[in-house]
Amino acid sequence: MTDEKDKLLCEKYPKIFRDRNGSMHETCMCWGFDHGDGWFNIIDTLCGTIQHHTDWKRKQQPYCKMPDDVFEENHQPVASQVKEKFGGLRFYCDNTDDYIDGAISIAESMSYRICEDCGSPGTTRGKGWIRTICDACNDKSKIGSNN
Ligand SMILES: [Zn+2]
Repeated sequence: MTDEKDKLLCEKYPKIFRDRNGSMHETCMCWGFDHGDGWFNIIDTLCGTIQHHTDWKRKQQPYCKMPDDVFEENHQPVASQVKEKFGGLRFYCDNTDDYIDGAISIAESMSYRICEDCGSPGTTRGKGWIRTICDACNDKSKIGSNN
């Protein structure tokens, strides 16, 4: 993803992407968002859902009785790797619960229907290198590689 969109997500969701500039020995987030710009909206809505749920959870029993640092350490979701694999989004995250796991599952499924390059409706195609892209981006990549 481009630096501009990378920065936007990190500024909007500082808690989820707190390890974005962490050590490569501790997190894969140091490599950034390893996919195209077309999935920006999927990640944006996913993180909005995750953080909204977490902020709500913070106010419920038994979490509301916890000191801030204990809650942050054990219940604030933190992304450990975000990348493309076999044409789909992979969003790896620590401190999830069933609700968040479900949200991640929907986001990953949606990525198989959205062009990774531009965000238009797309389909998963290719054999060796499987990618999810739209017809227009597929034509562009064919021209680019002279096939
Ligand atoms: Zn496209």
